[in-house]
Amino acid sequence: MLLYNTATRKKEEFIPLRENTVHMYVCGITAYDLCHIGHARSAVVFDVLVRHLRHLGYTVHFIRNFTDIDDKIINRANNENRDWQEVGETYIQAFHTDMDLLNVLRADYEPRATDFIPQIQDICKTLIAKNHAYPTKAGDVYFRVRSHPAYGSLAQRSLDEMMAGASERVKLTEAKEDPLDFALWKASKQGEPGWESPWGLGRPGWHIECSAMSSEWLPLDIHGGGQDLIFPHHENEKAQSEAAFDKILARFWVHNGFVQINSEKMSKSLGNFKTIRDILENYLPETLRFFLLSKHYRSPVDFSFEALDEAEKSERRIYQAILDVKDVLKTQKWKNTPIPAELLNEWQVLQDKFNQSLDDDLNTAQALGEIFSQVRFVNKLLEDKALKKSTASQAIYTQFLERLELWQKELGILHLEPKNFFETLRTIKLKRSQLDIAQITELLNKRAQARSAKDYATSDAIRAQLEDMGVIVKDSPLGQDWDLA
Ligand SMILES: [Zn+2]
Repeated sequence: MLLYNTATRKKEEFIPLRENTVHMYVCGITAYDLCHIGHARSAVVFDVLVRHLRHLGYTVHFIRNFTDIDDKIINRANNENRDWQEVGETYIQAFHTDMDLLNVLRADYEPRATDFIPQIQDICKTLIAKNHAYPTKAGDVYFRVRSHPAYGSLAQRSLDEMMAGASERVKLTEAKEDPLDFALWKASKQGEPGWESPWGLGRPGWHIECSAMSSEWLPLDIHGGGQDLIFPHHENEKAQSEAAFDKILARFWVHNGFVQINSEKMSKSLGNFKTIRDILENYLPETLRFFLLSKHYRSPVDFSFEALDEAEKSERRIYQAILDVKDVLKTQKWKNTPIPAELLNEWQVLQDKFNQSLDDDLNTAQALGEIFSQVRFVNKLLEDKALKKSTASQAIYTQFLERLELWQKELGILHLEPKNFFETLRTIKLKRSQLDIAQITELLNKRAQARSAKDYATSDAIRAQLEDMGVIVKDSPLGQDWDLA
């Protein structure tokens, strides 16, 4: 498999450092609020990476942490007059609820920062002993950036460039030796949570927790997160771990792109963010997942409801094909019409292309494209009078369903029974349309009665009335069925 490595800015062949086992660490959320679709994207991307690595036969140890102590958590707790631990717990649970809906597999290890306080303090002590860090009178501990020559290599920024950014942020009151230095340990202010330490009552800085939580797995095969984490978070993690343990932190650095709204980064400060729950009010979780996978993970993805509608339409086409294939497989009599050899060959190549897409830097957009090619292929057979019920097509239909299992496993989509999918979709579309469900149900019942009484004038009139409301009624041998226009 080829994987893009941020550290080298190149696609490289992925080979695990230890035989067949992959250690992958992804920076998790700070548990102070509901997850937005930027979090969903990162979770879905790394979920597909884990799934694909497992498909390739690797044993994957997937570690994703929770930041459960942080200024934002403390602020929220203070504003809501709650306990900071309770705030953290609330949003960790919310993360699990949302991610389960999106079919994101749980990580194998989900360490929390506050469970690693002794290890965090040990790293601080080691770094101080090695002159890579220093405590201040106020009880903070800072990492001495200029003591680590590799600092800036991940973000590919020079010290001068970083100085320009740092001097704007640095407060003159801070007792730092250098504006570039960053906090490993922070003295707790009055009323803040804190732990006893050699430097007084304090709590960990943000970056150090990941160095502590990943320390038993070094070197990691893959360290991941969103592109916004490259600097300073990952640069700092890398410096701390390398300086403390004299080992590289990670072989591959993998970063996913932003979710944008109208080509602007989605963020809380811009007020343009959407939570996962906002979206799932009106769309199936699978549709959001499908949408997020429809772009290459390193490209920015532009969020809009039109784009979600587009993803939903694509899903419908695939589910329709699954439904049609399952239906035609109920055929009792198959004919012996042969399929042209070049067509059979085309069918074989299509599935290889699906696998190759994921092997090429996890190109899920391409992989979805290959699924569509296969859908188009079976649709072509289904529409061909001579081939529809040929034994050769029967074999392809069966293979189509086998391939579906692989798509489900690797991409985590298309899990629903097609009938279930269309039923659920109808309900959610109805909700979106803000039509009156009770009124529609009543009209449908009246129409069914009229039809059974053979009063076709009334049933046609009701049909027209429903159509005006945007509801299309279809009659089948099983009774009337309906959908939104
Ligand atoms: Zn981290």
